[in-house]
Amino acid sequence: MRKKRQRNREPKEKGDAVTVETKTTIEPSDVSTVEFECIHCHSITSWPLAIAKNPPTSCPCEQKGQWMTVGGDTYRNIVSLIALLQQFSKTQNEPFILRFGVKNGVSDPASSDGD
Ligand SMILES: [Zn+2]
Repeated sequence: MRKKRQRNREPKEKGDAVTVETKTTIEPSDVSTVEFECIHCHSITSWPLAIAKNPPTSCPCEQKGQWMTVGGDTYRNIVSLIALLQQFSKTQNEPFILRFGVKNGVSDPASSDGD
């Protein structure tokens, strides 16, 4: 997670006011794990991104039935997303940096760059 401070200068009638906005962004290389949480029992299945491959298709509690079917749209899209994150987390020497902004109010337990 990176926190970037942006200064926005907004001239007012009487002098200038400076507001500071803190913007939190993540890069694919910031992603360390892939997690699936059951909305019924809230148990979490987590894998390190580096070895994640196929999503679970149901929770052992079986209260909400099957999450997805193997080979279905959701399953295939998650497999692709994991593969893309793995690929871009290792990308080096590109002439750009790919980042995703995080909504304000999302807690950041680490509250520092890197870990
Ligand atoms: Zn469950």
